[in-house]
Amino acid sequence: NTVLNLTGITKVYNKGAQSEVQVLDGASLHVAAGEVVALVAPSGAGKSTLLHIAGLLDTPDSGTVQIGGEDMTARSDRRRTLTRRSEVGFIYQFHHLLPEFSALENIVLPQLANGVSRRDAQTRALDLLTRVGIAPRARHRPAALSGGEQQRVAFCRALANTPRLLLADEPTGNLDPATSDQVFAALMELVRDTGLAAVIATHNPDLAARMDRTVRLENGRLVAETPAPA
Ligand code: ADP
Ligand code: ADP
Repeated sequence: NTVLNLTGITKVYNKGAQSEVQVLDGASLHVAAGEVVALVAPSGAGKSTLLHIAGLLDTPDSGTVQIGGEDMTARSDRRRTLTRRSEVGFIYQFHHLLPEFSALENIVLPQLANGVSRRDAQTRALDLLTRVGIAPRARHRPAALSGGEQQRVAFCRALANTPRLLLADEPTGNLDPATSDQVFAALMELVRDTGLAAVIATHNPDLAARMDRTVRLENGRLVAETPAPA
């Protein structure tokens, strides 16, 4: 039951120019439903490129991207966009919430764009906010929320359309250590509840240790990190 299959992904920027850089060089990753994978990578290693390719925001030069067993590599842009909206949730280091809308509306809007009725979208948004412990903040705009609360709303938004795959890039990287710890716990609970496949990039070894396994992006490839002996 593999949700994400990346096989032999290569990506070169500025091909043929002096500034040519081979970012990915045969990267492969398979993530099953319910599995949470920590992605660790030195800065500039190609982490963002890899996540964008996995989330159908970018295309590889070669290799295949399968989501839910379906090969997306040769699909039209339109088809890839539809699959991205319904199957993939993104979380970034900064929340990117719409400032003029409430927390609730930020979670409702992506559902409306996906064809869900307003009534159902609101019910789902409130349920998600309840699960991350901030339902009382539903009517507040992002600026009125703490950093940890803003990130919780961003998690709810990412899961609004019940994706099968969650891609997160340093989801708690902008928070102080204590808040980061709590917010990460809320995220893991949400992910475990929904049985999502998740790839979560982090520089924090403590957070990585709380996921199922760790892969390291190194020289354009993904290598399994052996757990330290207990
Ligand atoms: P990371 O997220 O690990 O910091 P990125 O995937 O953002 O790495 O970038 C990896 C490398 O590719 C870096 O050297 C970066 O400068 C380069 N790069 C990223 N995007 C582009 C682009 N659009 N054009 C040219 N080079 C790029
Ligand atoms: P919409 O068309 O409804 O705005 P998209 O299908 O363009 O949504 O995007 C789906 C998801 O991909 C959103 O979570 C959005 O944040 C993310 N996304 C879209 N474009 C980019 C981009 N260039 N870089 C990073 N994330 C993006």
